[in-house]
Amino acid sequence: MKFYQSKLLKSFSDIRHCYTTKHSRNVAFHVNDNTESIIANHKRLAQELYYDYKSLAHMKQVHSNAVKIITKKENFDAPPTCDALITNQKNIPLMVMVADCAPLLFFDTEQKTIAVAHAGRAGAFSNIIQNVIDVFVKDFHSKLENIYVSVGPSIGECCYEVGEEIAQEAKALGLEYAVAKRANNYFLNIRKILQTQLLNAGVKKENIEISLLCNSCHTEDFYSYRVEKETGRFSGVILLNE
Ligand SMILES: [Zn+2]
Repeated sequence: MKFYQSKLLKSFSDIRHCYTTKHSRNVAFHVNDNTESIIANHKRLAQELYYDYKSLAHMKQVHSNAVKIITKKENFDAPPTCDALITNQKNIPLMVMVADCAPLLFFDTEQKTIAVAHAGRAGAFSNIIQNVIDVFVKDFHSKLENIYVSVGPSIGECCYEVGEEIAQEAKALGLEYAVAKRANNYFLNIRKILQTQLLNAGVKKENIEISLLCNSCHTEDFYSYRVEKETGRFSGVILLNE
């Protein structure tokens, strides 16, 4: 599997998208990989999706809930610090990089606006989803019923054991529904939190697709920080067609 695609997003002719895999190689610059080979990986991906690799907007991700509106081409070599990007520009692909955290791709079918978000535990606990939806509505005049969301491969509850303090923190935030206890160990279900937040933000249930693929269970296809420690990043990419 070179790329993984969302069935939901695949049905729209206004956009192109994919989730990269280990077989399309590492796309992150901060993980101690050789810069030339990372650029070669970006160039290959850009060829597959038909864009100029330098026009890609990616992020210096910091587990925040900050959203940046992209109005013009960014500097590929100095990406903005944030954890979500949104644009209605046709020539600017958006990318989110992950290796356990969840990559989210958004598309408003009427306002022709796309977004990406990075949601690990911190992003889920601080509800980055609500911030993204707020920008769709306020800045792009989106109607909630037109927003479609795909959550790509991410760490499942199967592999996401957490300590008691994290379980307590989740409880304090009203997220106890996402904490499972098995044999005295706690497991966190990020997908459940994301789904709840999407629904609470007003996204329609039938407009949400959450991949059940656990990258941590499938390190033959995906990078996993938990399993591999020093590892690359796979990504979610989305762009508007001309
Ligand atoms: Zn797993």
